Amino acid sequence: MRFLVTGAAGFLGSHLTDRLIGEGHTVLGLDNLITGRRENLAHLGDEPRFRLLECDVSEHIEVEGGLDGIFHLASPASPVDYLRFPIETLRAGALGTHNTLGLAKACGARLLLASTSEVYGDPLVHPQPESYRGNVSSVGPRSVYDEAKRFAEAITMAYHRAHGVDTRIVRIFNTYGPRMRPDDGRVVSNFIVQALRGVPLTIYGDGSQSRSFCYVSDLVEGIWRLFNAEVHAPVNVGNPREFTIRDLADLVLAATGSDSPLETRALPTDDPRVRRPDISLASAALGWEPRVPLEVGLRRTVEYFEALPGLPGRSRATPE
Ligand code: NAD
Ligand code: UDP
Repeated sequence: MRFLVTGAAGFLGSHLTDRLIGEGHTVLGLDNLITGRRENLAHLGDEPRFRLLECDVSEHIEVEGGLDGIFHLASPASPVDYLRFPIETLRAGALGTHNTLGLAKACGARLLLASTSEVYGDPLVHPQPESYRGNVSSVGPRSVYDEAKRFAEAITMAYHRAHGVDTRIVRIFNTYGPRMRPDDGRVVSNFIVQALRGVPLTIYGDGSQSRSFCYVSDLVEGIWRLFNAEVHAPVNVGNPREFTIRDLADLVLAATGSDSPLETRALPTDDPRVRRPDISLASAALGWEPRVPLEVGLRRTVEYFEALPGLPGRSRATPE
């Protein structure tokens, strides 16, 4: 089959592209490289079943030839990135989703939208099932991302109902792994880079807020299963094991062998207190559950960062 992956040069898009190529399909990547990197796709080299179109999904998009499926992942995703690119983020979620839905309709292609746990905002229900409608500020700094994704879900369901487009919506919870940018500002990449450099790990607030971290291969498996299932309503895909940010700092120190101290910083506005997916629907409808424990995923991610030029190898506490 022939697929379009928007955001293909990003962290998740590049892993999804690998999976699709590995399944024997042809992939057209679309990316404007605002937060992605060509290096994430460099290993595909001269792969004849892959091509990258450098363009903005928020502008009119044209693709030659037919498409069987579209995976719409293009959007800044790290809070640091979407606060730096607020208008671009709103445009990717709103206009980009509209454009890809229009393309799906024209080609008769199935479309999967990458939505987010951020549609639940700072949740008042814990863990979060898909039926929870969320606690989101429409005007706070994070609204550029949260509301763009909520609009993206709404227009995806509207195209499904009004035009019969064959759509899927995945609500992705915090996912980590190789190919995150060292400077993308998310907690896993920040802590690993800080630990390897031997500088303090920056804990925002008191570090008692929680997140549930999913390794990238588990996430890609969930996306692929959802794409191939007959489910049009949103489905949570994430790892339900919940950690405080302080727990995560300890695990990163253990995985790197670093003796970096912890340092507290101000908690960003509207930073969610807790987050954990209820994955009953993914389990029942897709037979999916995550397999890679955080300790294992962190080790693989640390190995990736250690091998990057410009980052020191292990900064261990010197053994006596
Ligand atoms: P990323 O920043 O690594 O990748 C996003 C990619 O989209 C980048 O390559 C970027 O250049 C591209 N892009 C952004 N705006 C674009 C535009 N207008 N036109 C073309 N390309 C554009 O982020 P990621 O973690 O890989 O996230 C991918 C998707 O998954 C995003 O939609 C994000 O909202 C969603 N998501 C990710 C997570 C996570 O934990 N990683 C959690 C929830 C949702
Ligand atoms: N965080 C932190 N230190 C960092 C980066 C993030 O303590 O250097 C916290 C952040 O405040 C949030 C959690 O870690 O509570 C997850 O942040 P991230 O940016 O990874 O994603 P979010 O889940 O907030 O979208």
